[in-house]
Amino acid sequence: MHIEIPRAGDVSILYVEDEAAIREGYARALRRIADTVLLAGNGKEGLALFEKHRPDIVISDIRMPEMNGIEMLQKIKMIDPDCYAIFTTAFNDNDYLLEALELQVNAYLQKPVEKNLLKEKLEKITDAIRKEKLTKIQQQEIEAQRAILQNVLDHEKNLLVVTDCTEVLFANRAFLELFDVESVEKFNMLCTSFTDIFMPVKPYLHKGMLEEGETFYDLVQRMDDARRVVTIVGADALPKAYQINVSKIAYGDKASYLFSMTDITKMNIEKISTEKKAYYDSLTKVYNRNKFNEFFETEINRVKRYGNATSLVILDIDHFKHFNDTYGHLVGDKVLVKLAETISANIRNTDLFARWGGEEFVLLLPETDLENAKLLCEKLRRKVEMIECDEAERITSSFGVTQLHKEDTLKTALDRADHALYEAKKAGRNRVVAVP
Ligand code: GH3
Ligand code: MG
Ligand code: MG
Repeated sequence: MHIEIPRAGDVSILYVEDEAAIREGYARALRRIADTVLLAGNGKEGLALFEKHRPDIVISDIRMPEMNGIEMLQKIKMIDPDCYAIFTTAFNDNDYLLEALELQVNAYLQKPVEKNLLKEKLEKITDAIRKEKLTKIQQQEIEAQRAILQNVLDHEKNLLVVTDCTEVLFANRAFLELFDVESVEKFNMLCTSFTDIFMPVKPYLHKGMLEEGETFYDLVQRMDDARRVVTIVGADALPKAYQINVSKIAYGDKASYLFSMTDITKMNIEKISTEKKAYYDSLTKVYNRNKFNEFFETEINRVKRYGNATSLVILDIDHFKHFNDTYGHLVGDKVLVKLAETISANIRNTDLFARWGGEEFVLLLPETDLENAKLLCEKLRRKVEMIECDEAERITSSFGVTQLHKEDTLKTALDRADHALYEAKKAGRNRVVAVP
């Protein structure tokens, strides 16, 4: 059967009346109210038209040949229980009235129906129906758009999450699959706060790095691209590294963030192994001069910008030439490794320790003023004295310490530290000399 679909928001009326003169008379009035008016001369015709066009409103006489209004409406209500029904009743229709009541008819109009009254009554109804239809259409469109968007985002390999940083409001399939949950609601039940998924492992970004009043968005923004990396452990318990991007977006009426995360685990491993070659000293496994130079650049910029207290140290093994000559180069190498281990074990992980070359090492100590740097070096000097080596006597070391100035370059800072070291050597070695 063919059902005509009315245009979006159109309202249609079926008017059933056996007296042709009355029918035509009201038809004109109805056409001014509804977009489509269907006319029928009895219940049978009315039912046929209803089945074909599914009008929103049925106005019907009761007493009619072939099939009366009651019988017709019974059948119509079986097709569409929500159909809006109005009976027009004459005085002698009283016998039908009880039956009509049972049919949940929406209104009764006494015949002859006053045209203004009919207009007034119908306009309200048609307005309501129109509005309802439009809302429904809009909702369907929104639903359709959401479905398309969800579908697109579900085919995206990157993890996509909309969140206020605590609750997840939207997540694509890649994200849900990583945590092996079927819905955002399930995820929220498992995880009290979204940003908890970022593992607190250096150097990856995580909640513990947030400064007072800072959001995760702010944290990501203040990092340069290379540091915008997080680790997430999914349902498979394998930690993976992700490049992370966060943007502010409006989602519904909440201020929210879109987190987009790209799996760089493989890339990262490759990067780390090349980094190892470029940044580490092969004998002692501590950082080399390349890494130190880079770190120095970052730190001197912080000093210039924020005036942070940062200190620089050069340390050098005393009479190491003689040590090598006495015990051999291999024993010398062994001691160099032990010294590197000793120093590494006794500094903060925010400090940078590197082999400058030969038996010379450098330390860059952020958030450390000259006084504290000196204290640390004293401690390190004593630790070096205590290094044991089966094949040889113990070694001693000398330290040159200085604090970075705003106007320093790598050269001026190293020159000052080197000068302090020279002073330490001159004063008899195995000591710490600091110059401001
Ligand atoms: P000072 O107390 O003035 O520092 O005297 P020094 O002998 O330590 O200083 P000098 O700079 O004259 O000699 C450094 C020596 O360190 C030369 C070399 O034998 C030794 N050395 C440098 N690199 C290595 C290395 O990789 N392995 C070994 N075993 N020795 C090294
Ligand atoms: Mg030397
Ligand atoms: Mg030396």
